[in-house]
Amino acid sequence: MTLSDLEKTYDRASAAPKDVDRVSLDIRSGEFLTMLGPSGSGKTTTLMMIAGFETPTAGDIAIDGKSVVAMPPYRRNIGMVFQNYALFPHLTVEENVGFPLKQRGVPKPERARLVAEALELVHLPGYGARYPRQLSGGQQQRVAVARAVVFKPRLLLMDEPLGALDKQLRENLQLEMRRLHADLGITFIYVTHDQEEALTMSDRIAVMNDGKVAQVGTPEDLYDRPENRFVAGFIGESNFLPAVVRGVENDVVIAECDGAVIRALCPGRPASGEKVTLTTRPERLRFADSAWIGEQMPQNCLSVTVTEAVFAGERCRYMLQAGDGTSIVLKEPSSAAIRRRAVGERAEIAWSVADTILV
Ligand code: ADP
Ligand code: MG
Repeated sequence: MTLSDLEKTYDRASAAPKDVDRVSLDIRSGEFLTMLGPSGSGKTTTLMMIAGFETPTAGDIAIDGKSVVAMPPYRRNIGMVFQNYALFPHLTVEENVGFPLKQRGVPKPERARLVAEALELVHLPGYGARYPRQLSGGQQQRVAVARAVVFKPRLLLMDEPLGALDKQLRENLQLEMRRLHADLGITFIYVTHDQEEALTMSDRIAVMNDGKVAQVGTPEDLYDRPENRFVAGFIGESNFLPAVVRGVENDVVIAECDGAVIRALCPGRPASGEKVTLTTRPERLRFADSAWIGEQMPQNCLSVTVTEAVFAGERCRYMLQAGDGTSIVLKEPSSAAIRRRAVGERAEIAWSVADTILV
């Protein structure tokens, strides 16, 4: 499926920014794609346009090369699961799951077979006669999933389907959704504002911000090579170091940061003298005098003062301050053999060029 310059402006009279702004995405057949972004970034609106419940202001949606913009929702052959279950309270589980089949005129015996198959798929065989209120939140959401896949759609859209569930249940259902994706072999487009959920579940993630796609890539791409400050800050934790460009060598930019020379990866070619921001992850930094497991000492070094030291069980978390006042977080795996740093202590930190990105 392809989204091309997809736009939506709910209030065309106002000068407010577009609610969905030139979203272009190539979604591969059979992939698990997650749209991740803060509240109000346009995720639901994009899903609603794909499903056919909202009309784009501009742009196109094509499935198998054919535009579906003019097609009514039921003819698009897309399943959808909402955050709030949206089950019919006065219908039994069986009737809820069978509803899309009834709408499509599937005869009764065939309907019963498909409903049983769908309930089996979500591990709820034997629950057909119950009403939604007789089920837990997690079970209701499984019924909603069964209803969304019972007519064998080519695409399943899910809008924060686990948002209302507690953490443990959410983690179990995350695994079930992955399994379901593997079983069905169809394309999933999954919406969440939870970056950890997105990282664990997805083949690829499209990060949304202010109605636009900030970056698309695999979880590793986004975590290791964020293309902009928004993505670096939204996915995982990041340090941001102000620096001035001094030169470029191949794909490596050489920058000056608090008087030190820092090398960073950079797809573009920033000009000498340009003020930039470098980003690096807390767990990729080490104290320079600690033991290095690895064949080479990383090239980037900076002098800092420890301003806060927290022992958090599996790791120690340090707040550091560079000479120019920049705050830096360093996370170190804990070991009884590693000396803890004290607040006020001066230290050198070091990290790899590969873990330093210009954003
Ligand atoms: P998300 O799902 O990422 O939280 P939404 O797609 O719901 O974001 O919202 C994107 C923007 O569109 C927001 O600014 C929101 O206020 C606006 N919006 C969403 N639905 C409507 C609607 N039905 N009418 C008017 N504005 C809407
Ligand atoms: Mg939403």
